[in-house]
Formats: sequence, C-alpha cells, structure tokens
Amino acid sequence: MNVDLHCHSTASDGSLAPAVLVARAFENGVRVLSLTDHDTTEGLAEARTAALGLGMQLVNGVELSCTWGGATIHILGYGFEVDAPALVEAIGRLHEGRWLRAEEISRKLAMKGMPGALEGARAIQMELGDSGNAPARPHFAEFLVRGGFVKDRAEAFRKWLGAGKLGDVKQHWPTLEDTVATLRDSKAWVSLAHPSHYDFTRSKRRKLVADFIQAGGHAIEVVNGLQPADQVGSLAILAREFGLLVSAGSDFHAPGAWSEIGVYRPLPEDLPPLWCRFKNDQPTAVV
Ligand code: MN
Ligand code: MN
Ligand code: MN
Repeated sequence: MNVDLHCHSTASDGSLAPAVLVARAFENGVRVLSLTDHDTTEGLAEARTAALGLGMQLVNGVELSCTWGGATIHILGYGFEVDAPALVEAIGRLHEGRWLRAEEISRKLAMKGMPGALEGARAIQMELGDSGNAPARPHFAEFLVRGGFVKDRAEAFRKWLGAGKLGDVKQHWPTLEDTVATLRDSKAWVSLAHPSHYDFTRSKRRKLVADFIQAGGHAIEVVNGLQPADQVGSLAILAREFGLLVSAGSDFHAPGAWSEIGVYRPLPEDLPPLWCRFKNDQPTAVV
C-alpha cells in the first residue's frame, strides 16, 4: 500500500528507530506515512527528517489511550502541530502515568521473585533507541526472557503481562470525550483505532462509534493490518451507516512479528479515505 497511517517506533513500543522505520516504509512502497506512537510525539522530528530525504509525505500522528465503557480505547490523531498546547499538556499527563505504571509492574514482578524489572526493561528499551518514555510491556517481556523467567516473549505475556495478568496494570487514562476534545483542540483529524479489537458485543461497538462521533471524531480505522476480512466488512458497514471517513494502516511494531509496514487488507473502494482530506481541509470544517 502507498499509504500507511498507523505504526510504532522506538519512541513507544516499536522496535525500529523512527528513521529506520521510515526507510523500511519507503522500501515497501509507502509514500504517505503517519507515525502513530502511543501517547508520544517524540519520534516525529526524526521521522520527518528521514521522510523529507526520501521525498515521502510524513503526517504527524499519535495513538492516544483513553477509557470508555470500562475498556481502554485507542484514538488516532493526525495532522496536528506538535506544539499544540492541548496535546502537549495531555501527553505530559500520559507520560507521567506511564512511568507510574512501569514502576508498579516492576514492583509486582519483584514480589513474585523477579527483581530489577524496571531497570532491566529500561536498559532493553535504551538498546533499541534513546527514549524519555517509560518502558512498555514488550520491554518487560524481553527482560523476563533474558532473566530466564520465561522461555519467550509469548510466554511472558501469557504468564505475567497479558490481559488480566499481574503486569496488566490499569492506568487512569482520560475519558474518550476528553481525548477527542484534546485532539480537536489541537486541530487534529481524529480516527477511532481498530474498533474490532475490543471484546465488545455488536451493539456496544456501535455505541462506541456513536459516542466517538458525538465527541467529535471524524473517522474509523476500517483496516488494521491483516485483521480478518469479515471484521473489515463489519466496520465498513458501520462507516457507511454513520457516513464516516475511514483510515487504514498496518499497526506495525517490529519486523518478523504479526504485521509489516505498508501491509494491510484492502480498503473497500466506496469508502472516503481520511488521508484525502489532509492537505486541503481544516479538520474543524467537518462533522
Ligand atoms: Mn503497541
Ligand atoms: Mn492500538
Ligand atoms: Mn497501534
């Protein structure tokens, strides 16, 4: 695909530095790329420089965590200015929360006989690339592998870090309404990330989309990597029903894992792509 609006670098939980990620995207044919690290815009400057050198369009992006209906939801923002005050302030609060969460994961692992996890995960994170952000669960997983506590990362998630496990520390994310407002105040285009990833009933998913629109959202991510085709179909139906713009991306994190940059299922052709609006329109002009 020549457009990819969802990927991660070492600025959050990806394994490639922003410049390396951009080069890989270019090799895979991507010409419009948005780097959407979790709760940080730290990687965007490096990505922009790399993209300029290759003649690619780099769209400022971010994937923000928030809560809705008792679940953690991800919201994608695009095309904002990195110094937009509302976004800078919101990211500052999230950054602090992520450090507190990392400390709590470390404390809990220590109580189970796995000491030094924060320092270990931080060292692994810094091997991958310099970052001021807290180490994330993949870094903790690698720490557990290297410490001989588990045989591989999959086991680390299954036993200690995955949903409902000891290391799945809940963070006090802002609400969906506040997060969409932050992005709108920052003149961002706003898309609901991977609506099929949440373990919701069909009616709850529909309510999520309705509330997201009510809050000021513009688009839903109809295609996320190689998600099952029937999910793409269901999301396309929702997008048509609500008259939404749509976004798509690989959600790439690391080579050799479950996704590749620039690779995702085709977007149904009748749906209006969000990225066609990036250049000319102001996000405040729609919805
Ligand atoms: Mn991630
Ligand atoms: Mn996500
Ligand atoms: Mn993501």
